[in-house]
Amino acid sequence: MLTEIAPPTLDERVAALEARLAALEARPLEAPLPDACRRRTCSYFRDYLAQGPAELVHEAFHEVEREALALQGTCHPWHDAHPDAPDQHCPGCGSGRLDRLERRIRA
Ligand SMILES: [Zn+2]
Ligand SMILES: [Zn+2]
Repeated sequence: MLTEIAPPTLDERVAALEARLAALEARPLEAPLPDACRRRTCSYFRDYLAQGPAELVHEAFHEVEREALALQGTCHPWHDAHPDAPDQHCPGCGSGRLDRLERRIRA
């Protein structure tokens, strides 16, 4: 048996609406760039562009970089544990995904 829930009063609906508006206003439209990116001292400007013309735009570079860093967390320990298999790929990126990501960001 369902207990009946009273519909929200007008005051409650206005309060909920105001809370949502306040939350929307508090959120910046775009995430602000990290300091290093704004000052152009991040890895993109410091390392990537230093090695030649850009194939990735700034944002895309950091996206690939983040993915590569995440993979390194599983890939590198596997290779450290299998020093006899330098040409093999770890189960986490069996197709050599990390290699390709690292080449793209010139790591
Ligand atoms: Zn950057
Ligand atoms: Zn791997």
